[in-house]
Amino acid sequence: YLTIEDLNKSFMVNQNTVPVLEKINLQIKQGEFVSIVGSSGCGKSTLLRVLAGLETEYEGSVVLKNEKILQPGLERGIVFQEHRLFPWLTVKNNIAYALKNISKEEKEQIIEEHIKMTGLKGFEDAYPGQLSGGMAQRTSLARALVNRPEVLLLDEPFGALDAFTKIQMQHEIMRIREKEKATMILVTHDIDEAIFLGDRVVVMSSRPGTVRKIFPVGLGRNRDRSNPDFI
Ligand code: ATP
Ligand code: MG
Repeated sequence: YLTIEDLNKSFMVNQNTVPVLEKINLQIKQGEFVSIVGSSGCGKSTLLRVLAGLETEYEGSVVLKNEKILQPGLERGIVFQEHRLFPWLTVKNNIAYALKNISKEEKEQIIEEHIKMTGLKGFEDAYPGQLSGGMAQRTSLARALVNRPEVLLLDEPFGALDAFTKIQMQHEIMRIREKEKATMILVTHDIDEAIFLGDRVVVMSSRPGTVRKIFPVGLGRNRDRSNPDFI
């Protein structure tokens, strides 16, 4: 469904080429929830940006349903660690901004539905500056979801939230997953979260083969968490 083959990505820094992703190989099934963990700076956000189509210069192949990913597309939604909302637009208009090519009535209805789904009722007309971190992330989530993406990319979406809000939103993500049947890729520093939400945990290493196996063995249900993939 989503196939990453021999992905290499480097950045130019002061005329030097700095490799960030080296030989990344990963296969993701449709509807799968993959958690990606790895130490700071190993390239997790860069990988998600490639998947989102925000990084177009890379080597190797990144293919979603037979199509090479080279630009952003409505079938992929992304939520970043910080909310990145437009400060001059209300919650409702931030969400509406992502909605393209549909009638006004349809738009209203979809926005309403997503405001409910993400627990934003009553906050429609607030501006991002007036929101708590949790509400801002809910708005980002709603914005990422309005076009019903087949793939949802989550880059530490709960990293800056308090424990209670975090748990609430983790459960919301699970509910949304059941409802939308989307494929989800979550980057997180929270190993409990990776295990709790993921069908599969992928450990990303800056130097392949150097990550120690730090995973608990045999925690529940039909997920094989004792054996994360190393990329
Ligand atoms: P964290 O867990 O701290 O979020 P990460 O795994 O998401 O880290 P990335 O943000 O993907 O890491 O960054 C990987 C490396 O690439 C870092 O060394 C970073 O400095 C470098 N990098 C990222 N974006 C750029 C850029 N636009 N230009 C130059 N270097 C970059
Ligand atoms: Mg990051």
